Amino acid sequence: MSCNAAVFRFAPSPNGELHLGHAYSAMVNHDLARSSGGTFLLRHEDIDTARCTPAFERQVEEDLGFLGIEWDEPPRRQSAHMHDYAAALEALAAEDLVYPGFMTRGEIKAYVERYEEDEGKPWPRDPDGAPLYPGLDRHASSQERERRMSEGERFAWRLDVERAIEMVPALTWEEHGASPLGESGTIVARPLEWGDVVLGRMDIPTSYHLSVVVDDAIQNVSDVVRGRDLFYATSIHRLLQALLGLPDPRYHHHELILGDDGRKLSKSAQDTSLRSLREAGMTAEDIRRMVGLPGRPPA
Ligand code: GLU
Repeated sequence: MSCNAAVFRFAPSPNGELHLGHAYSAMVNHDLARSSGGTFLLRHEDIDTARCTPAFERQVEEDLGFLGIEWDEPPRRQSAHMHDYAAALEALAAEDLVYPGFMTRGEIKAYVERYEEDEGKPWPRDPDGAPLYPGLDRHASSQERERRMSEGERFAWRLDVERAIEMVPALTWEEHGASPLGESGTIVARPLEWGDVVLGRMDIPTSYHLSVVVDDAIQNVSDVVRGRDLFYATSIHRLLQALLGLPDPRYHHHELILGDDGRKLSKSAQDTSLRSLREAGMTAEDIRRMVGLPGRPPA
């Protein structure tokens, strides 16, 4: 990661207060950018307009300022770029790679429970533990889709992952960090493990997976440095990059900062929020030491 043109980004969702885990991720990205003569970008991932607020966004910028982190370009706010994601979704739709999935969360749950009871074996789950989409409407006729959509039935745009993987070669990525199991180096992408993920909603023409790959490409991000909890999602990101003809960055999934109970920190846990640590009198150097980084960032 020492190439001059390296571009790093920190991409939080402004839907709560940043905690020590975010501080670690932001500081690792910022340190790498500064020590390699690269660029550091801030991106507000605020597609969930119901939960993301301008107040949290201001708080993110204040917290980063407190940590001594400066971004090299005005922050990109995803909610201002919906047309970029809509265009990507349309490109996939033009290849017949997405379909409207009408099953609600409740219907999926009921379907899976019935299957597990009848078959006596578990229904497959994605790496986050959620049941794979049963895809009963994957092959519905266009007339039926149009009828249900025009009747106002709710749906989400889902990737037809089996069809998608037939359109691209076997995919890998270069992992400079490690998976939760310690794998690194060349990693084989396994997008099938995620099933037919949601790529867009009725009201928002995107999802986390779609907007993150579109933005990383638009912003010329060369090095995606983020928490290990997103390691497995990279399989879907590589697939979308290949389908959309986007470049593939290097990936570095770093360890997570865990709470005293050994669990991942959450945005609702007040005691590790940067604001409360700052209010308790901690300095940026204290925070660096708390997360195991050297007291001073690279000059
Ligand atoms: N917005 C995501 C989050 O807050 C991070 C996205 C990424 O780094 O790829 O967890």
